[in-house]
Amino acid sequence: MLKTFTLGGIHPPREKLSSGSAITPLPLPERVSIPLSQHIGAPALPLVKKGDRVKVGQLIGEAAGFISANVHSSVSGVVLNVEEAVDASGYARLAVVIRVEGDEWDDRVKQRESPDRYLSAYSREEMLSAIQAAGVVGMGGATFPTRVKLTPPTGSRPEILIVNGAECEPFLTADHRLMVERGRELLIGTRFLMKALGVEQAIIGIENNKPDAIAKMREAVAKHALGIKVCPLKVKYPQGGEKQLIEATTGRHVPSGALPISVGVVVHNVGTVYAAYEAITMHKPLVERVVTVTGKSLARPGNYLCRVGTPVACLIEAAGGLPGDTGKVINGGPMMGKALASTDAVVTKGTSGVLVIPVGEALRKPYRDCIRCTRCVQVCPMGLEPYLLMTLGEYQRTGELERERVMDCIECGACSFACPAYRPLLDVIRLGKSRVGQMIKSRK
Ligand code: SF4
Ligand code: SF4
Repeated sequence: MLKTFTLGGIHPPREKLSSGSAITPLPLPERVSIPLSQHIGAPALPLVKKGDRVKVGQLIGEAAGFISANVHSSVSGVVLNVEEAVDASGYARLAVVIRVEGDEWDDRVKQRESPDRYLSAYSREEMLSAIQAAGVVGMGGATFPTRVKLTPPTGSRPEILIVNGAECEPFLTADHRLMVERGRELLIGTRFLMKALGVEQAIIGIENNKPDAIAKMREAVAKHALGIKVCPLKVKYPQGGEKQLIEATTGRHVPSGALPISVGVVVHNVGTVYAAYEAITMHKPLVERVVTVTGKSLARPGNYLCRVGTPVACLIEAAGGLPGDTGKVINGGPMMGKALASTDAVVTKGTSGVLVIPVGEALRKPYRDCIRCTRCVQVCPMGLEPYLLMTLGEYQRTGELERERVMDCIECGACSFACPAYRPLLDVIRLGKSRVGQMIKSRK
């Protein structure tokens, strides 16, 4: 029987329009704008100024502390400015704007022979340093610096690495294609991370709607890897949520407020594993990633390998151009993604998809009073009471929100999806979470 998590969950229409589209390199844009804050933690400090010439892979922003990440140039060319630019979240942040000239890579970035030899050639510390130097962060959207996640707190004992290939968001297929097309590299990357963590076991969790990815990864595991197994999962949203994936693959439950390491588990997305592979075997910084560009109205939905800092408009152009009836462009998938204010927003390390929605589907229905049907409670994978959290959020009852475990909300949107009264549960809960977060910070 296929494994899954026990509490809640929903079955939104899958609409994986681009699952058969091979990863295609996107032509270089004329200019990029590379934010110095693309990760959780302190923004990187700029190392370049207007007029500097840079190469692909050159360090242009240095991590400003333990929880931070290096930022590298994704193109070669001339720095036009280091300026505030509005990013995909709608906030202005410092970014390095570069006019693209040619495609000259930093000399240290090289494709090397026998990548698996690094398993014995590199010590654990060398692997961690390579990952840190390359500015690798969680590419499933969390953007937590990978080196930090691979350095569990003193006293904790990692036992299992879980590679997250669930990709449960409807429409998104970037991880799916990586598994189909780069299975061997992902396997070697998984072994690197196992060594970096000091664990003997890894589980690759993949939803069962990606049989070709399951087959590819099983083939790679059979040839190359001891201690790694592929775990097909039931298709249920949010199967890719960390706590849900851990329960499904290991049966372990992460307690409220605790991290996965508290049950001996560390989870990394397949994109992150691939970036770690490139960092260790090629000294290649995280300067490009696969992004799904999709939507029923697009002429050519696909999976594009594009440089960090590329405007979303260039991706949409490659997918056939912005349809005239577009109502919304979402950064991410339909469940957890956020609407973009402009297609000038750029791809960052955490951008997994761009979804174009026609105006007819983009408009929200007017919401009505809660009818106490409890649908939202039944589908919440964290065992919360979303209708109550929304009410407490509306009345700004921050203390009660904290007691009702609002910080456990993983912002999956299952409650909003299921609500027959179309109540904007997630929007209000997000605001409440942010208020509780500030309150906790001020206490510290
Ligand atoms: S968004 Fe939060 S409250 Fe709503 S279902 Fe997901 S975890 Fe539960
Ligand atoms: S699903 Fe909507 S209507 Fe039903 S209890 Fe929750 S908030 Fe109320």
